[in-house]
Amino acid sequence: MSLIVAVDGPGGAGKSTVSRRLAERLGIAHLDTGAFYRAATVAVLETGADPEDERAVLRAIEGRHIDQADGRTLLDDRDVSRQIRSDEVTGAVSAVSAHPELRRRLVEAQRRWVERAGNRAVVEGRDIGTVVFPDADLKVFLDADPAVRAARRSGEIGSTVTEVAAALDRRDRLDSTRATSPLRPADDAIVIDTTHLTIDQVVERIASFL
Ligand code: C5P
Repeated sequence: MSLIVAVDGPGGAGKSTVSRRLAERLGIAHLDTGAFYRAATVAVLETGADPEDERAVLRAIEGRHIDQADGRTLLDDRDVSRQIRSDEVTGAVSAVSAHPELRRRLVEAQRRWVERAGNRAVVEGRDIGTVVFPDADLKVFLDADPAVRAARRSGEIGSTVTEVAAALDRRDRLDSTRATSPLRPADDAIVIDTTHLTIDQVVERIASFL
């Protein structure tokens, strides 16, 4: 039987860790869709294309294969898991992911990935409950106080909290104001504020709805 859990929210809200743990607990796959947009951004930057220019972006990703296997992100079978977390990629990913045709292609790839996983997966992103899997069995939207999200991220990547806060704020703004598939909770999503919760508490709360 299929089981799709959609986990959306802004950066630093706890999506990745929570989704990974929840998937382990349920014994199902975990798909990080942000990694797809980040891998596309690697391809764009490598070819020197302008992230704002939709035609150049589409040319840059034409014929490139983006995939995820064993928690690693692949661009044409090259492991780009580390590269996709660079400041350069993080700075350009929102511009790249705003292009509708690029989104259409990546959404298609994400749906195929989940199908190959037997339609049993925890899928995290920005538009999973609204666009990618509008019929998901459970939709969760994780949020947290911006200062707490910045502190969590800076702990993960080692930049200062002020730098991370500014970068996150910019990315949130771009992601929530774009015309196509903006970041927003689905009408039927359970919204969880993770500001004062541990990872385990968030996982427990989500599991209690299943
Ligand atoms: O989740 P993560 O922070 O790695 O996502 C990186 C970026 O990819 C987001 O800021 C957003 O621009 C884009 N993204 C998206 N739709 C998704 C997942 C990520 O537009 N489903």
